[in-house]
Amino acid sequence: MDEAVGAGVTRMVAVGVDVERSRRAVSLAHRHDQVWAGVGHYPLEPAALDLDALRELATEPRVVAIGEIGLDFEHVGGIAREVQIDRFEQLLTMATELDLPVSVHNRGADSEVESAIRRHRGLRGVMHYFALDWDHAQPFLDLGFYLSFAGLITRPSRTALREVVKRCPDDRLLLETDSPYGNAQKRMGVPNRPAYLLDTAELVAELRGVTIERLAEQESANALALFRGMR
Ligand SMILES: [Zn+2]
Repeated sequence: MDEAVGAGVTRMVAVGVDVERSRRAVSLAHRHDQVWAGVGHYPLEPAALDLDALRELATEPRVVAIGEIGLDFEHVGGIAREVQIDRFEQLLTMATELDLPVSVHNRGADSEVESAIRRHRGLRGVMHYFALDWDHAQPFLDLGFYLSFAGLITRPSRTALREVVKRCPDDRLLLETDSPYGNAQKRMGVPNRPAYLLDTAELVAELRGVTIERLAEQESANALALFRGMR
């Protein structure tokens, strides 16, 4: 936490992937001024969805999002698509009722995620760890969603993704680490940490032709606009 704050990363959202780890995210947020929590159920999580427990956790102070939730159709031998879609639907309904934004994981399920979001009027959220090209970014931007970029943008092969980084509207851009995963190219093989957000921020600033200070200001404003409780 000290290292992150030293690097200028002063606000973090820790997300849960099941009830137990959502509870841990909430408890972390209660212990640290720089941390807020998301409560969610990861699409590939084998445990049954306990919506009541998540709903109760979601009303705790410092919970600013429902996440991580979403659809993952690329993982072989994972959870059946129909089960994932059903869970996602219930979680989106809960988020809409509680007026909390969602942090969405999408792997290989673009059109299903898009239509699920479309079914929930007024739903706000972010496409976390955005990894696709501009054609796949546009529909989510049109739905009012934010795009969150991570260390993946530093991989040499990700030219199309860097194009999205350049074209993303100022007021829809977010940054994340997805730590302990998702490190920048230069740190491959070591666990990611919140302070390493700067690796991503530096490249985003360069691609968009802005100073890192200007980017930080905009990104913080965006995070506060989306995660309203994060003040
Ligand atoms: Zn994810």
